[in-house]
Amino acid sequence: MLGPQASVNDIAPHEDVGRPTALAATLPPLARLLQPKLELPATDACEDAGHPEWLAASGWRIYATAKRQRRPDHAAELLESFTLASGDRLDALRLGDGNVVVPFDFDEAYQNFLGERWRGQTDLRALGESQLTFYYRVKRLLPRELQLALRRLFIRLRTTPAFPGWPLELSVDRLARFYARCLLAYADVDQAPFTWFWPEAYHAALILTHDVETGDGLRRALELADLEQERGFRSSFNVVAGDYPIDDGILRELTDRGFEIGLHGLHHDRSLFSSRAEFERQLPALVEAAERFGSHGFRSPATHRVLEWLPELPALYDCTVPHADRYEPQPGGCCSLWPYSIGRIVELPWTLPQDHILFTLLRQRSAAVWLQQVQEIERRFGLIQCLSHPDRGYLGDADKRAHYVELLDALGERPALWRALPREVAAWWRRRDVGVEGSAVPIREGTMRVGIAPDYVSFEPPL
Ligand SMILES: [Zn+2]
Repeated sequence: MLGPQASVNDIAPHEDVGRPTALAATLPPLARLLQPKLELPATDACEDAGHPEWLAASGWRIYATAKRQRRPDHAAELLESFTLASGDRLDALRLGDGNVVVPFDFDEAYQNFLGERWRGQTDLRALGESQLTFYYRVKRLLPRELQLALRRLFIRLRTTPAFPGWPLELSVDRLARFYARCLLAYADVDQAPFTWFWPEAYHAALILTHDVETGDGLRRALELADLEQERGFRSSFNVVAGDYPIDDGILRELTDRGFEIGLHGLHHDRSLFSSRAEFERQLPALVEAAERFGSHGFRSPATHRVLEWLPELPALYDCTVPHADRYEPQPGGCCSLWPYSIGRIVELPWTLPQDHILFTLLRQRSAAVWLQQVQEIERRFGLIQCLSHPDRGYLGDADKRAHYVELLDALGERPALWRALPREVAAWWRRRDVGVEGSAVPIREGTMRVGIAPDYVSFEPPL
């Protein structure tokens, strides 16, 4: 989110390094998020300026191709103003004839977030290809404390990026609400139904996920499972198939107790996504590992990713993409608080900062950031996904585990959260996405209602 001191002009224009439309074709249109009963007319009255750029409204922004109005309409009602880096202002209007014109394409704006196409257009500092190769070559040689000291130094030295907001970036939430506002304006109504995000009348979905980095971490997984089960939670443990011995007895115990096993790559490095040839070379072993572990989910080691390739993974869902992240070797984020499909696979973005980022890199001494984030996401009816690790240096340390227990206890006092396994949320989202009928849990309708700034509309759960 842009603070009052930051504006769209803080972001220098770069050459568009975003990926072309092949990825966009596998991403859903914005209408699939809300599935409203209303429609907007095509915006053919506008001209296309040619390439995407930042359009900033108050407190949020989009990265999309600007479309300019052909002629002024003095009877128009202003819905929102967007400012370009050039300083030009483009308005979204409800015209005197009832038509609604918006200076960008909603689907393009949504897909440019989901496809992380905005990443080349911010001052978010990512390591380049050769720097990443160097980082991983040197990392193995350095003691862990020195690695951490270097990463903390890197964080301190760089400027805080103007986008995305951290830990919460509201632009996709605001985009969806503004879209709903435009639908209501065009239909000339104050409220309308839309497909509710979650089963029953749950306000938000909650999933707890763990990446197991070492064989010792796998042994410690059972301690975390105990803490969760005592409080009525289940979670997923993502294991690395080829780096440490996997004790089938531990996996069996976890699955027998209702926990889920997912895949965290073959090796804990960036090799899988380092080249197309390497990705194809590792794929058969990943298929075999997914069968052996009975896994339905995947998270890439250190969240390295090439989004276009994710649908080829042997999984129902992927949970690699952050909501908004500045700290991983490949920073970025979809900025969405909801799942979405990438081709055949469901993407479940992780929406709480990782334990490693909060407690190790930033040296937070409480669960306060997590608790605040949970509250904010529940207020917006999104997916709460916590990513943590059972290993030493993470929740394997007593002080960090105490913060996790604080989180679990706080979550236990939120009855409107749907406590689910990742595979259950993925199956739900796929069903909601394609509208399959006849399941035991009916898909219900919420209400979108004209609201007050800065939210445009309120979303109201089913009664
Ligand atoms: Zn990992």
